[in-house]
Amino acid sequence: MNERDSEAVAAMLRARGYSIVDSEHDADTVLLNTCAVRDQAEQKAIGKAGYLLQRKAGSPNFKVGIMGCMAQNRGTDLLDRLPDLDLLVGTQKFHRVPDMLDNLIASERGVGPRPRTLVDLDTEAGSQDTIRDHLPERGPQPSAFVSIMQGCNMHCSFCIVPKTRGEERCRSIGDIVEECRALAAQGTREVTLLGQIVTSYGRREIPFVNGKSPFVQLIEAVAEIDGIERIRFTSPHPRGFKEDLIDAYRNVPKLMPYVHLPVQSGSDRVLRAMNRPYSAARYLKIVDDLRAAAPAMYFSTDIIVGYPTETAAEFDETVAVFRRVRFDMAFIFKYSPRSGTVSAGLPDDVPTEEKERRNQVLLDLLAEYSLERNARLVGTVQEVLVEGPAKRGENRYQGRTPGNRKVIFAASERLVGQIVPVRISESSVTALQGKLLLSSVDA
Ligand code: SAH
Repeated sequence: MNERDSEAVAAMLRARGYSIVDSEHDADTVLLNTCAVRDQAEQKAIGKAGYLLQRKAGSPNFKVGIMGCMAQNRGTDLLDRLPDLDLLVGTQKFHRVPDMLDNLIASERGVGPRPRTLVDLDTEAGSQDTIRDHLPERGPQPSAFVSIMQGCNMHCSFCIVPKTRGEERCRSIGDIVEECRALAAQGTREVTLLGQIVTSYGRREIPFVNGKSPFVQLIEAVAEIDGIERIRFTSPHPRGFKEDLIDAYRNVPKLMPYVHLPVQSGSDRVLRAMNRPYSAARYLKIVDDLRAAAPAMYFSTDIIVGYPTETAAEFDETVAVFRRVRFDMAFIFKYSPRSGTVSAGLPDDVPTEEKERRNQVLLDLLAEYSLERNARLVGTVQEVLVEGPAKRGENRYQGRTPGNRKVIFAASERLVGQIVPVRISESSVTALQGKLLLSSVDA
């Protein structure tokens, strides 16, 4: 989501006449878009901002801004640590950045007073409709993120997102479809629909139609668009993952067989403490139903280890769920207390080494399952959306399978943005190598 918000700000700045450079060293303004989910993310951003601000000593007009969740969370307290910041922009104000920068530059030129730091952290009605610009000038974007909603009403006990992102607000289906159409016209083939809890999309604003939730209606509307060949989304919540969404995997061929479905814990006691309203059994039922609907389904998840009071036995229940699902991908987080959340009031009582141990148990399992899943693909032919040059190797390109596995193979620039058949020849934990089946690709 931060990546998408940053892109949208870059596009708005570009439209205003600013140019976007590839390296921070060439920039005369650097904006950091920040995360507040864990303390580590905030410390990293503060360190980076401090480092950047040193450049002001040699070039006084060099500007540094902080945007997003940490700005929202810490507010002007950040200025105690970083008094020379030029901009502090909250999560509902990304679209204000061009005006704020214009004002700063005007004041440097002696037009108007020079405030110490321009701050805008307020809420704004309709701000969910402002993350819609893309950067087509930067070349084709085979896969693009599309923000469908902002905010979160779930109030998981550990999570700072409702505080930093505010109340849940959705964009209209029409607006989202229009954005996807424009992307398709520029060569985008895959869209990932983004929201904190996409399964809550439009629940208050848009009625069910033929038993279909607003989110499923949205998926179907996006699937109608010529040129969009693949649809993904992140993140759904197990509570809202109902029959209509499972059916969509049967009925909407463009919906890719990969689902990121955060489980957080496999212990019902811990799930209750986390205010996650489902049981491990209910989660596993969704997984089984999805596998029945789409046998090739890939599963990804988020898990927190070391939630306050989580015992080793309760962690073993998480391990059991992990083994049962055999996750293909997972993001494992060591619990980090966040101010203003319910669980911040509890003692952070799982020792760091024990959190580390639990983390490592799951990472080891993940490596095993991911490698095994990739190894099974060797010898098969996969439909790969070519995304662009690989990080290393001449004429090496990378793309993704329907199951979101990264494939690296020899190709050429003209294939970027196409879906091509690739025979998989090698596998590792993180990627596949393959060979393009040239005969079936348009010249
Ligand atoms: N809205 C999304 C999650 C956004 S945060 C959803 O519900 O799926 C991404 C992940 O960060 C969460 O799923 C959770 O696993 C992790 N996370 C959130 N708060 C955390 C905390 N206080 N400590 C550690 N991990 C946390």
